[in-house]
Amino acid sequence: MLLEEMAWPDVEQYLAHDQRLILVTGSFEQHGRHLGEGTDRITAETIARRLGEETGVPVAPAVPFGMSLHHMKFPGTISLKPATLTMVIVDVITSVYAHGFRRLFIVNGHGGNKGAIEAALAETTNSLPGLRVKVGHWWQEAAVDEYLRRTFGGTEYHASVAETSVMLAVRPQAVHMDRAVAAKVYGGLLYSSAELFRQHYPDGAAGLDPRQASSEAGEHLISLVVAAYKTQMESWDD
Ligand SMILES: [Zn+2]
Repeated sequence: MLLEEMAWPDVEQYLAHDQRLILVTGSFEQHGRHLGEGTDRITAETIARRLGEETGVPVAPAVPFGMSLHHMKFPGTISLKPATLTMVIVDVITSVYAHGFRRLFIVNGHGGNKGAIEAALAETTNSLPGLRVKVGHWWQEAAVDEYLRRTFGGTEYHASVAETSVMLAVRPQAVHMDRAVAAKVYGGLLYSSAELFRQHYPDGAAGLDPRQASSEAGEHLISLVVAAYKTQMESWDD
């Protein structure tokens, strides 16, 4: 169920029996030499839509831009400032709350969005009575992390094996495997300047070798994360 395909009477009817809604936050930024710039939105949106199909909960349109200032030295990246992204998320939540949505699940596709999401939630959960929000940074979900460590010997950081696998499964035309190179191991530079980021990661990717990626692994990752979120969507008391 996509909110963009529902008319207002459909939304009204849904709200009469359920207050849950799935939100999506993406980014538009470089993803190494081999992945499309829309990767973070496409992966998060895919997970959110499957979650919506399995739970019957509508999915709001994705916020397509994220906080990507540290990727600005690579061509194509479009970034919001942290304060702008925070305000966008606050306004989206305030809007859906006004209509009666009270249980929000945010599927986030980009690590650089975390600070803005937390700031937006600190504000809205304190100003909007009865609002409950859960956030899933999909590549860090426990089952995903465990699978990546067991299968590939590490965890995802940026444009490495997990993102590449999911993209091979859902948007192969945005994956250029002939240009994938071994990514440099992540060294904890998420909040570095754009200059320093490019210096440290000249190809743009960091983490596990994306050449190990496969569409089968991508499908498996999606099913792991959707199953975990489905359980989390059932209870809002923890
Ligand atoms: Zn990404």
